[in-house]
Amino acid sequence: MKTMTCSQLGGPCDLAHQGETADDVINAQDRHLKEAEKAGDATHQAARDAMKSRWRHPKKAMGWYRDTKQAFAELPEG
Ligand SMILES: [Zn+2]
Repeated sequence: MKTMTCSQLGGPCDLAHQGETADDVINAQDRHLKEAEKAGDATHQAARDAMKSRWRHPKKAMGWYRDTKQAFAELPEG
């Protein structure tokens, strides 16, 4: 298991997400951003919009995924 925080994934807070793969933490961040939006948390809105546009434009988002997967791969285990 590795841990990435909301802020490491482009968000504004330090909530930690744990996962076996980069996709796990990306999905956890997506859920976190959706919940923040539902709760009316304006501080997460920019990150939420960026994530939404990544789902809509996966080709343009390739660089972000690559960087995030790279950052995840470089994290220590645990
Ligand atoms: Zn957050």
